[in-house]
Amino acid sequence: MLRLPAFDVAAPRDLPGALHLLADPNQGARPLAGGTDLVPNAKLGQTRLGTAVLLRNVGGLCGLERRGDHVWIGAGTTLAELATDPTILETCAALGRAAARVASPQIRNMATLGGNLCLDTRCRYINQSEFWRSALGGCLKSHGSECHVVPGGQGCVAALSSDTAPVLIAYGAVVEVAGWRDGQVARRELPLADLYDSDGTRHVRLAPGELLTSVRVPVPGPHVRVGHRKWAVRKSIDFPLISVALRLELAGGALVGGRLVVGVLGPRPRVLDLKGLAGRPMGAAFAAELGRMAFDRCRPLPNIPYDADYRRERLAVEVRRLALGLLDDPPHCSDA
Ligand SMILES: Cc1cc2nc3c(=O)[nH]c(=O)nc-3n(C[C@H](O)[C@H](O)[C@H](O)COP(=O)(O)OP(=O)(O)OC[C@H]3O[C@@H](n4cnc5c(N)ncnc54)[C@H](O)[C@@H]3O)c2cc1C
Ligand code: SF4
Repeated sequence: MLRLPAFDVAAPRDLPGALHLLADPNQGARPLAGGTDLVPNAKLGQTRLGTAVLLRNVGGLCGLERRGDHVWIGAGTTLAELATDPTILETCAALGRAAARVASPQIRNMATLGGNLCLDTRCRYINQSEFWRSALGGCLKSHGSECHVVPGGQGCVAALSSDTAPVLIAYGAVVEVAGWRDGQVARRELPLADLYDSDGTRHVRLAPGELLTSVRVPVPGPHVRVGHRKWAVRKSIDFPLISVALRLELAGGALVGGRLVVGVLGPRPRVLDLKGLAGRPMGAAFAAELGRMAFDRCRPLPNIPYDADYRRERLAVEVRRLALGLLDDPPHCSDA
C-alpha cells in the first residue's frame, strides 16, 4: 500500500490569502483543488508537498456565467458542473461533453477545471512507485539523467492527458492567472494554448506562486462547429489514449478556417491550423483528408502504455469520425 506522506494544510478564504501563502518560498506550498491528481502523485513521491493550499474555500474561483460574447468559468468549477450546466451545453457543448468523459462520477465531483488544465504530465516511467522508478535509475523527471522514452533526448516528453485542454484551445479560450507582487494581487491573461511548454517537467507556464483563476470561452458564432473525441480502452475511469478537438469555420458549405488540436502526444497539445484547407467543400472526402493530415503530422510516443503505431492509426480514424460527426450535427454539438 502506498502511504501519503505528511504535509501541512492551509485553507485560505480569499485570493490574496491563497496567493500570499503560495508566494512564500519557504512553505513548499502547492495549490490543491480537487486533489484527484495531486494526491495520487504525492503518494507516488512524484510530487513533494510542504503545504497544500486548499482552493475550495477561496471566494471568486467557482461558478460560471455567460458574459456577453463569452462564458466565464471559475477555475474551481467542478467537471461535474461543466458536464451538466445548461449554459455550457447551450454555448460550448463540446466542453461539457469532454468534461463528462473524464474519469468517473466520483472523480468529476471533486475534480476542477483549473486542476484539469494544470494536470501533471503522465508517462509509463513516472507514474510508478518511487521504488520502481529508482530500480530503473530514475529519469529526467525523477532524479535521473536519462529519458527512457526518447533515449538521449534532452527534454521530458511526458504527455498532458487533460481532456478539457484540447477542446478549450479549439474554442480559443483565454485563461486568467493571478500572482502576488509587491503586496498585492497581480493579474494577467494569456491564450490557453500559450499556457503550455514542451518540457514535461515544467509544462505549465505559471510563475512560482501563480494561480489559474478563470477561463474565458468565446461563444462560437452560427458558422462555427467545435467537437471533441476521446478514445480510451474503457468508457469510464481511463485517462485518454487519444483526446482530440476540431474547430471548423464554414461559409457557403466550404471551409474558411479552423484548427485541429491533438492532446496526449507530449507535454502540450499540438495545434494544427486548417487555413491551408480553406475552400474545401465539406463532406466525406474532407473528413478523410483531415484524418490523413493528423496521421502525417502527429507521432504518438511510447510515453503512455499503449502501442504508439496503433495510436497513430487510431488518431486518423478518430479525426475522420470527429469531422463526419461535426458535419452531420447541429453547430458545436458533436462528440464521440
Ligand atoms: C483514476 C483517474 C482517472 C482519471 N482520468 C482522467 C481523464 O480521463 N481525463 C483527464 O483529463 N483527467 C483524468 N484524471 C486526472 C484528474 O482527475 C483530472 O484531470 C482533474 O480534473 C484534476 O483536477 P483536480 O481539481 O482534482 O486537480 P488537483 O489534483 O487538485 O491539482 C492538479 C494539479 O494542478 C494544480 N492546480 C490545481 N488547481 C490549480 C489552479 N487553479 N491554478 C494553478 N494550479 C492548480 C495542482 O497544484 C496540481 O499540480 C484522472 C484521475 C484519476 C485518479
Ligand atoms: S518522458 Fe522520459 S523523462 Fe519524461 S517522465 Fe517519461 S521517461 Fe521520464
